[in-house]
Amino acid sequence: MRRDPVTAFIALGANLGDARQAVEDALQALDRLPDTRVSARSRLYCTAPHEATGPDFINAVTRLSTRLTAPQLLLSLQALEQQAGRERPYVNAPRTLDLDVLLYGDATIDSPSLTVPHPRMWQRAFVLCPLAELAPDRVPQACLQAVADQTITPLTALAGGHAP
Ligand code: AMP
Repeated sequence: MRRDPVTAFIALGANLGDARQAVEDALQALDRLPDTRVSARSRLYCTAPHEATGPDFINAVTRLSTRLTAPQLLLSLQALEQQAGRERPYVNAPRTLDLDVLLYGDATIDSPSLTVPHPRMWQRAFVLCPLAELAPDRVPQACLQAVADQTITPLTALAGGHAP
């Protein structure tokens, strides 16, 4: 039987090479995943590295409607990271593309390979600000205030929730 679609939120980040293009390409690639559609995207943001090294990051969040299971979605994101030339020479190294599952419907998942909601999202302005554009009801105001000291600059005009 065909699964009902689930609304998932994915964080995108890159800080190596043409990071802006990598994020744009990833948004297109997410829309081409099987049984998956990009239904909204945030603005692009430029952020100073946080728990990471290297140049500034380009970040965004996208909303997907997907029939993939959460583990299938994670595997798909990891495949896209690989296609973008992602290497993991050390923890928090600069990256050509980083894709994280932030939210998968209302699911709480705690498996060896996948934790949802993403365990570190509440400490990251580069996740919470773009997520709040798309789903303000999923981002408590207190969490936004807690990361207000992190430098984050929107690069593009408000997308108004349009698909790419
Ligand atoms: P990263 O270096 O940020 O790409 O982390 C990838 C690792 O985090 C992989 O081993 C994943 O299995 C694990 N992981 C756990 N929860 C998540 C999540 N919600 N989204 C993406 N990766 C996750």
